[in-house]
Amino acid sequence: MRVPKAGAAAAVIGLALTATGCGGDDGPQGTLSVGIKFDAPGVGYREPGGTFSGFDVDVATYIAKELGYKPEQISFKKVDSSDRELLLQYNEVKFVAASYSISDKRKEKVDFAGPYFTAHQDLLVRAGDNSITKAEDLNNKELCSVTGSTSAQNVKQTLAPKASLLELQTHSECIVALEEGRVAAMTTDNSILAGYAARKENAGKFKLIGLSLSNESYGIGIKKGNKDLQAQVNAALKKMVQDGSWDAAVKKNFGSANFKHDPAPQITTGS
Ligand code: GLU
Repeated sequence: MRVPKAGAAAAVIGLALTATGCGGDDGPQGTLSVGIKFDAPGVGYREPGGTFSGFDVDVATYIAKELGYKPEQISFKKVDSSDRELLLQYNEVKFVAASYSISDKRKEKVDFAGPYFTAHQDLLVRAGDNSITKAEDLNNKELCSVTGSTSAQNVKQTLAPKASLLELQTHSECIVALEEGRVAAMTTDNSILAGYAARKENAGKFKLIGLSLSNESYGIGIKKGNKDLQAQVNAALKKMVQDGSWDAAVKKNFGSANFKHDPAPQITTGS
């Protein structure tokens, strides 16, 4: 479900939970609700048939296994960048694995395990456009990013304060705006942009500039104060790196995308 932005969130979510009888934590016998992106190919993606793919999906599935859940017990819920804190605060999901960068501002509301991946903010433009090669080129141009993302904040505050920033709810809406020529570029993590560029239906349409405009340390978002879960997830992430599953998941999900990923980061309990 989409979490309302207004103050009525608690009441609405309370009703929804009563109706479905399922919250974020139903114990090892029940369902484990996990928040992922549904529209970030290679990272978190809902395939047309209803199955899920992406690096975050594989990381979440591994963590779930370590917590005692089989893949069929996982209920993946759609999160957008601006919903992640709310979903955790209202127990809609047990954890969030959704290209979720660890930041001090977010740590005021949620806790993180990890980090488990390092991405970098980059730019995606239309294939034939040679007018943008660096962040400053975005000044006085139209640029799309996603509401509630670090990328949008970085553009406004430092990268290109004179860019005209179109903030939309989802990455897929930005891609449409870019393809239709409503914006000159889209910015978010290279992991997400490379995934879009690598889609078969996007062949020849877009170009990843290849900049490293920020370091984005992905963490698993968990409800603030749940130190037990944080320790369990950190242990799972460490095991995933040690037993080779992390490398396998990176190869599987990012292998075909034109994007060089960093090695696995040191897991430091999300701080
Ligand atoms: N990783 C960045 C963030 O957490 C950008 C991608 C996203 O919004 O998911 O804000």
